[in-house]
Amino acid sequence: MTTSDTIAACDLETLRAAVTGEIFTPGEPGYDQARQAWNLAIDERPAVVVMAESAADVAQAVRFARTHGMRIAPQGTGHGAEPLEPLQGAMLLRTARMRSVRIDPAARTARADAGAVWQDVTVPAGEHGLAALAGTSPNVGVTGYTLGGGIGWLARRYGLAANSVTAAEIVTPGGRLVRTDAGHEPDLFWAVRGGGGSVGVVTALEMRLYPVRELYAGALFFPIGRAGQVLHAWRTWTGTVPDEVTSVGRILRLPPLPEVPEPLRGQAFALVEAAFMGDAGTGSELLGSLRRLGPELDTFAMIPAPALQQLHMDPDQPVPNQGDGAFLADLPDAAIDALVALAGPDADTPLLSVEVRHLGGALARPAPGGAQPDVGARYAVFAGGFTPTPELVGTVRAHAQAVTDALAPWHASYDYYNFQETPAAASTVLPAASYRRLQEIKARYDPDQVIISTHPVWPARP
Ligand SMILES: Cc1cc2nc3c(=O)[nH]c(=O)nc-3n(C[C@H](O)[C@H](O)[C@H](O)COP(=O)(O)OP(=O)(O)OC[C@H]3O[C@@H](n4cnc5c(N)ncnc54)[C@H](O)[C@@H]3O)c2cc1C
Repeated sequence: MTTSDTIAACDLETLRAAVTGEIFTPGEPGYDQARQAWNLAIDERPAVVVMAESAADVAQAVRFARTHGMRIAPQGTGHGAEPLEPLQGAMLLRTARMRSVRIDPAARTARADAGAVWQDVTVPAGEHGLAALAGTSPNVGVTGYTLGGGIGWLARRYGLAANSVTAAEIVTPGGRLVRTDAGHEPDLFWAVRGGGGSVGVVTALEMRLYPVRELYAGALFFPIGRAGQVLHAWRTWTGTVPDEVTSVGRILRLPPLPEVPEPLRGQAFALVEAAFMGDAGTGSELLGSLRRLGPELDTFAMIPAPALQQLHMDPDQPVPNQGDGAFLADLPDAAIDALVALAGPDADTPLLSVEVRHLGGALARPAPGGAQPDVGARYAVFAGGFTPTPELVGTVRAHAQAVTDALAPWHASYDYYNFQETPAAASTVLPAASYRRLQEIKARYDPDQVIISTHPVWPARP
């Protein structure tokens, strides 16, 4: 018998009466839509879905789940749903309707409710000449991204998004709504700064914003046949640039879809994408050696900070997809050659994108106070593709894993929390000392392992 069978109808009515949001159970109209993650390849079937409208709803839902012996999977958008364990018998606690954002231009901070997506923050922050440490996609959730670290276009200058969190509001697994910051519930605060969402359900995050009004940013597109030359040149170039430059070397096979603009539709490229926090003249000088390679298309220009979220061309609608990634301690010639062999012009691959992000800079400098206090890895790789048919799921996954496997000799000591899409314990995506501390905190706040998170943490045993 599953937990869902054991939720009596009258109990559900009590929950419905207690929350402003909606509740869905299997078979009810709306259940399939409510349980659908942004990643359309995911088919989770929880015992109940709660679409929370407020922190009070979240607290009611957590208390209900505890009373009924259910585990709880907090989720915003479902961009990160791929590694989640099966949710049979569990409550899927969705925050997607909690999207209020407040910008304080004087204090240079933002407060985002747990369901906000990045464009909810970047657009109003941009109106004040401020930028958040958002990721590449406008519709990835602020909360899931930040809990897992968060590496975006300003990362080499300002570090991980998690390390710019100044406060978090959390419903503990005991059902208590608490506000945490460096002085209140410091262990919980430390855990949500990069340790994932395993210690409670976040209802809001507060974070620092940075004075970045405009950047010199864009992409150089080369024919895919030049992938080896371009990636080697890009890697050499990354050794020369200041922290104000964050860039990506990438092999991209654009699908023949109407959403893709005409000159790019159905084409394959090797490209360099970059964002420079400075003026066009200095940016052009910095880019000189790569430009001299003679790109087919050059989109670099001064752009407002919120427009950064179009630079990487992430899908703006939910799509079925699979992928995998890793932190790399280094990217020598042999690693680039391995990558080009698997994804370059001669590869027979369903992978849409294979990218390497340049890390270092502020990411590498100590930022104590969170579970990812510094990132020693110098690069991060991510490979992924669309899976419009179920048969493609295994194929794309195998190709993505082949890329990360081929780079195994250069993997860092742990993988990147947000890019690890294979089910894996948090011990594989955090520094060892952070994982041990997280286990202690988990033992205190969630000894029964009620919260289901992307990468599980097992409570320390006395
Ligand atoms: C198109 C695309 C682009 C991306 N770009 C980047 C990028 O530039 N940089 C980067 O670092 N990552 C990037 N990622 C990875 C992304 O950061 C992770 O997938 C992240 O988990 C997504 O967060 P979410 O809230 O949207 O997803 P969700 O699936 O909603 O959440 C992921 C996990 O976060 C936790 N969580 C979410 N909300 C809560 C909550 N309220 N309380 C407690 N725990 C919670 C849960 O464990 C949940 O399973 C990208 C992913 C995609 C699909």
